[in-house]
Amino acid sequence: MGFLGFLKRGPRKKKCVRCGQQAAHGYSPAAESDAKQINPLCLSCLIEQLRHDYAEFRGRAVVIAPAVGLPCYVFRNLEFLRDTTPDCERLSVALLEQITICADCQAPARCVWIESRGLTIESFGDVIEKGPQATLLTWGNPAPVSLCGKCTAERINNGLQTGGFEFFEVCSPHLDEQGLVLPMAY
Ligand SMILES: [Zn+2]
Ligand SMILES: [Zn+2]
Repeated sequence: MGFLGFLKRGPRKKKCVRCGQQAAHGYSPAAESDAKQINPLCLSCLIEQLRHDYAEFRGRAVVIAPAVGLPCYVFRNLEFLRDTTPDCERLSVALLEQITICADCQAPARCVWIESRGLTIESFGDVIEKGPQATLLTWGNPAPVSLCGKCTAERINNGLQTGGFEFFEVCSPHLDEQGLVLPMAY
């Protein structure tokens, strides 16, 4: 179906596969999944799913806050970044190496959280190409903080609850993967 098909059909016409409410989001096992693997979810069911995913996650990830106006909010592993944008891979690894303890609950941290001020459909390509240090962190966002999986999910979910989000595809990091979660388009 693709993103354009999704726009044409209108996400709001879809029903959540878990509870039958209107579904504004699509959830998939991995970035760029086949349309049939992208399950429509309502906001409450997406929030539950993200809580589960990040609580189970045992790897390390740079997580950029959700941003309105971008169709995808997906995890990209380091192998993908290395092949497509080596500078971003190198800079993401530098951020992963700074992970300490969770700033919100003091548990061992797994993620580096970066706010997404300035991240738009026009600017996300720069973030992927040049890395967060040369982009988001010079655009007035606070310094990155380490978070455990549980607190990362809470920050994502607090963002999503502010409204205006409609993600065609959302996916989480799983197992011991390492990489970057960011709002983007493809
Ligand atoms: Zn639901
Ligand atoms: Zn925590």
